[in-house]
Amino acid sequence: MYYIDPHIHMESRVTDDYETLAKMGCVAVSEPAFWAGFDRGSVDGFRDYFRQLTEFEPKRAGWYRVQHFTWLCINAKEAENVSLSREVIAMIPEFLDRPGVLGIGEIGLNKNTRNESIIFLEHLDLAAKTNEQILIHTPHLEDKYKGTRMILDMLCDDRRLERSRVLVDHVEEHTIRPVLEAGFWAGMTLYPVSKCNPQRAVDMVEMYGPERLLVNSAGDWGPSKPTAVPDFIMAMRLRGHPESLIRRIVYENPLEFFSQSRGFQFTPPEVAEAAEL
Ligand SMILES: [Zn+2]
Repeated sequence: MYYIDPHIHMESRVTDDYETLAKMGCVAVSEPAFWAGFDRGSVDGFRDYFRQLTEFEPKRAGWYRVQHFTWLCINAKEAENVSLSREVIAMIPEFLDRPGVLGIGEIGLNKNTRNESIIFLEHLDLAAKTNEQILIHTPHLEDKYKGTRMILDMLCDDRRLERSRVLVDHVEEHTIRPVLEAGFWAGMTLYPVSKCNPQRAVDMVEMYGPERLLVNSAGDWGPSKPTAVPDFIMAMRLRGHPESLIRRIVYENPLEFFSQSRGFQFTPPEVAEAAEL
């Protein structure tokens, strides 16, 4: 089955992972900007990172016919440096019209601090002014419920934002309902050590249905599994769900969400195959 991984940090994965993803049916990935494992020291560090995301990663993905899309921001972990964050936010528009850029992300909260909220709101303002879509990281473990509530409050306070163009990621059983009820997209992240696993994701599909629901691996430089979406496909099959429902969640839903971005120039695999005949 063809699928799209809507949240994966391929920059921190090896080229062999692209090959494995392609063999498993992955036709596109979307890569939000995130924390490098250390705080970057200057706006030029981010400029180089954004060049990597918009220049080299699409090329590397293309070696295996995987289409690569990306989102730009400064991560919440680095938002404590408010002045650097503002420099980065001011620089992001240099990249917004590049091919494959889907919007602003992954912005959000980490420890739910005041500075994180300030920088989150300034990213929202940038997205509203530039008409960009938004991808949101919600905090981990004990900070998740409160952080998700804070994020939803800030989103709902901004009347300029179209909720169907905002993805709230890393939802779990205790946060998925308010996200969907408010009209946002919800992303379930399948992670080996925290967040969700394939079986719990299937449970949530059974409880809430497939509408505005996405599944991703959030594969990165830490313990994570880039092939987690195929694990979800298998878990859905073993529960007896039809292929049409699985395909909707792992392929048609990401297409529907991403298609609202002007940077989403996607060639469906059927079209690519026909062109090669
Ligand atoms: Zn991420």
